[in-house]
Amino acid sequence: MTEPVNANGSGCGTDGCSRKRPRPDEGLLNEMEQYAAQHYVPIIKRDTAELLIVLGRLVKPVRILEVGTAIGYSAILLSGILAPGGRIDTIERDEDMVSIAREYIRRAGLTDTIAVIAGDASEVLACLDKTYDMIFLDAAKGQYPVFLPECLRLLRSGGLLISDNVLFMGMVDSGEPVGRKKRTIVNNMRTYLETLRSDPLLDTSILPVGDGVALSYKRMETEMNR
Ligand code: SAH
Ligand code: MG
Repeated sequence: MTEPVNANGSGCGTDGCSRKRPRPDEGLLNEMEQYAAQHYVPIIKRDTAELLIVLGRLVKPVRILEVGTAIGYSAILLSGILAPGGRIDTIERDEDMVSIAREYIRRAGLTDTIAVIAGDASEVLACLDKTYDMIFLDAAKGQYPVFLPECLRLLRSGGLLISDNVLFMGMVDSGEPVGRKKRTIVNNMRTYLETLRSDPLLDTSILPVGDGVALSYKRMETEMNR
C-alpha cells in the first residue's frame, strides 16, 4: 500500500509531497471496510477516519499507541500520517482479531511499522515504558477509566489522547432517560468525560463525530495554569 520511503527518509518525491497515505476509499482499506461490515466489527466510521487524518497531520506523530486493534483498519489508516520512521503499537486481546490484523498489516507492507501487541490492555499498558505522541483509545468503553492513568503516563506532554465512542449513540449527551441496562454504560461514560474535563493536565473537547470522540491535549509544563 505505502510507497517505499526515499533514501533521505522523507518519502518526498519531485513535487515535495508524494508520500502516499492509505485512503479509506482505496483497495485494502475498502476490502477491510467490507469485511468489518460483514462480520460486525466496529471499526471507525469514515467521518472519524477523516478527523484522525487531520489531527494526525497536526500532531505529526513519530509514535502512536492504539488500544483496540480489531482487524487493523484504523492502525493502517493512521500509518499514513506517521512522521518518517514513525511506528504504531496497537493492543488487541482477541486472538482471532490479532491474526486477522497481522495478515492485513502484512498485506499492506507495514509489518515493520505496526506492531500488534496481543493481550489485555489492562495488563499490557502497565508493561509499556516509552512515551507516545498520540494515543487512540478505542476498546471496551467500560474500561476507559482504568486505562486513563496508564494512557496519561504514556502520553508525552504536548501529545494528544483521542477517546472513541464516548457518546454511545448520542445517549451520553442527550440528558434523556435511558433503560437500566444502558444506564450503567451511559453513566460510566459521563463520569469518564467528567474526569477528562476536570483534569488540570488536560484540555479536552468532545466532538459528535462518529460515535463521539473526546480529544484531550496533555499540557506542557509551560502551559500549566493558563
Ligand atoms: N480501532 C479499530 C476498532 C477497534 S474495535 C478500528 O477502528 O479499526 C474494539 C476492539 O478492542 C475489539 O477488537 C476488542 O476485542 C478490543 N478490546 C476491547 N477491550 C480490550 C482490552 N481490554 N484490551 C485489548 N483489546 C480490547
Ligand atoms: Mg471505535
